[in-house]
Amino acid sequence: MISAIKGSLYTITIFVVSEILYQLYSRGRKRRGSRSSGNKTESESRLSSTSLQVLFFPDKDVACREHFLTGNGCMKVNCRFSHNKTSLSELYRHMLDCQKTMDVCVYIITCKDLADILSRLFRRGVKIRIISDSEQLRSSGSQIWSLRKEGIPVRTNPSSYLMHHKFVVIDEKVLINGSFNWTAQAITGNQENVIITDDDAVSSLFVAEFQRLWEEFDPSRQGDGKLI
Ligand SMILES: [Zn+2]
Repeated sequence: MISAIKGSLYTITIFVVSEILYQLYSRGRKRRGSRSSGNKTESESRLSSTSLQVLFFPDKDVACREHFLTGNGCMKVNCRFSHNKTSLSELYRHMLDCQKTMDVCVYIITCKDLADILSRLFRRGVKIRIISDSEQLRSSGSQIWSLRKEGIPVRTNPSSYLMHHKFVVIDEKVLINGSFNWTAQAITGNQENVIITDDDAVSSLFVAEFQRLWEEFDPSRQGDGKLI
């Protein structure tokens, strides 16, 4: 009889202890679960609110200007340029999406197609500012002079050190940054990379850096005030 009671107590004790352990384990798992799902939600919303694109050059084929830059598309029957997506056509797409401002900080600009997009946007009312390297203004095919002639403000570095950046900020939001100079050689010859992101944490730093350089390269601060 006593041993039977002892056996029952033993069984009950085991049950109670295992139930307590199970409850503790369940609560811990729920807490861990809610923590991790909270993080997941945060990181997912962060990812969904920003975009990231990486482009590599050279392009095997040159993107067709008419196809990507005009609203009418290309009418040529045997067009020798590409109507498929290329790294250059993606650059075109981002630039043409510009609504209000475009800050261009690029070492060398000789590619007429990319310069033409700036002209087009400028005529559309987009506020464009260009910072480029003072030595490269004198390079063959520099588009800076014609852009400046159109009325687009251009500033250059007064020192002999290079203004070696290659970044663009569109609407103070979308950053295009990498090794890519605006030259034909960079499009179809060189190994180049470009990262495009609208992550504020990154692009805001480039917005600030552009503004800092813009003020530093103000010609009124440079001796006789003449543009270099
Ligand atoms: Zn075409």
